[in-house]
Amino acid sequence: MSFTPLNTLKSHLNVIDAQGLRRVRRSVESVCQPHLVVDGQPLLTFNSNDYLGLAAHPLVIEALKEGASLYGAGSGASHLISGHSQAHERLEELLGMMLSPHLPSVRVLSFSTGYMANLGVLSAMADVAKGDITFFSDALNHASLIDGIRLSRSSCEVYRHADVADLSQRLSSCQSTSKVVVTDGVFSMDGDIAPLQDLLRLCEQHGAWLLLDDAHGFGVLGDSGAGVLQHFNLRSEQLIYMGTLGKAAGVSGAFIAAHENFIEWMVQRSRPYIYTTASAPALAHALLASLRLIRADEGRRRRAHLQNLIQQLSTAPVPAGWTRMHSTTAIQPLVIGSNEQVLRASADLQAQGIWISAIRAPTVPVNTARLRITLSASHTTEDVDRLVRALSFESIS
Ligand SMILES: *Cc1c(COP(=O)(O)O)cnc(C)c1O
Repeated sequence: MSFTPLNTLKSHLNVIDAQGLRRVRRSVESVCQPHLVVDGQPLLTFNSNDYLGLAAHPLVIEALKEGASLYGAGSGASHLISGHSQAHERLEELLGMMLSPHLPSVRVLSFSTGYMANLGVLSAMADVAKGDITFFSDALNHASLIDGIRLSRSSCEVYRHADVADLSQRLSSCQSTSKVVVTDGVFSMDGDIAPLQDLLRLCEQHGAWLLLDDAHGFGVLGDSGAGVLQHFNLRSEQLIYMGTLGKAAGVSGAFIAAHENFIEWMVQRSRPYIYTTASAPALAHALLASLRLIRADEGRRRRAHLQNLIQQLSTAPVPAGWTRMHSTTAIQPLVIGSNEQVLRASADLQAQGIWISAIRAPTVPVNTARLRITLSASHTTEDVDRLVRALSFESIS
C-alpha cells in the first residue's frame, strides 16, 4: 500500500527539478568572509550581505565572547518576561541615537530577525486601524513584507515597482482611513534605491504612513552608516523604519524605529514581538561593538572602499546577452534569463573557483533569473579583477 501524501510530495519535488528550481544548501567550513572553503573547495564568493566585512572583525568577535561571559549563552525568556537584558536596552538606545535626526521622538524595538520585525510591525499597524487600513506595496518588495501584510489580514494594493505616479493614483482612489506605503529602501534582488523623497511627499499629502525596510541600506548608506534616511536626509513623523543587523552590521537581528507611541503600541500588541524568546544578549553586546565601528572612521573607510569596488565592477564589460541592472549599491545583479542558463553560468564560474548563487523565481520574476553579485568591503580590488576576468569568458550559451 502506498502512503499518498508522500507520493504527492515526491511528484511535486520532481516538478521543481524539471523546472530547474531545486534549491540546495552548501555547508561553509570557514569564517564568514569572501574566501571560503565549501565542501573542501576554496571559493571566492560574491554572495554575502556582510557588506562591511564586520562578521569577521576581531573586535566584534571579541565582544560576542565577552557578551556570552557577561550574560550567558541565551536570554531564557521573551522580552516582556525576563529575557530583556541591559545589552538589548543599550542596543536600542544606540540605534535610537543614530536614527534620531530622521525620526522625531524616536524609540527602537529590537527583534531576533528582520522577518519577524516585518511581521511584527505590519500586524501592529493593522491592529491599530482595526481593519480599516490599506497597504500599498511595491511590486518588488521582500517576501517578509508580503507575508507580514498577509498575516495582518488587511487589504493590499501592489503598485508598479518604484512607480510614483501609479502609487499616487491608487492612494487618491483609496477609501480606507489608514493608508500605509510599504517599500524596501534598497531592493534586495535589483540593488536600486527606492525614490524615497517622492514617496514621502506623497505620504504626507495623503496622510499615509511610510514603512521602510532598510535591510540593505543600514550600515552601508549615509555618512555615518545610519542608512537610506541619512542618505536622502529625510525626517518625518510618518516614517516607520525597519533595519536589520545580520547584514552590514555583521551579526544577527533587526529593529523597528518609530515614534515612541507607536513602539509602545507594538510592545503591548505585536504578537511576533511578544510571543518569542529574546535573542541572546551576547548578540546585542556584539552589535554594540559593531555599531561603534560602523559610526567611526573605520566604518567610513570601509564604506569608501566598498564604493570603489562598486565603481570598479559596474564599469567593467558585461558578458554578451546578459543585462546589468542599474544599481549604485553593493548589489550588482546580472540578469541572464532562463533558470537553465543561470544555473549553467553559476556552474561555469564555480569551475573557476568563484561562487555566485543563481537567483530564480519566485524570488525574482520568471525569466529574469540572475547572478546576484554582492560586494563587500572585505573584497580586494584583486578579488573584483578576478571576477571581471572570469565573467569575460561568459556569454549566453
Ligand atoms: C534579509 C531581508 C529581510 C529579513 O531580515 P533577516 O534578519 O534576514 O530575517 C527583510 N527585508 C529585506 C529587504 C531583506 O533583504
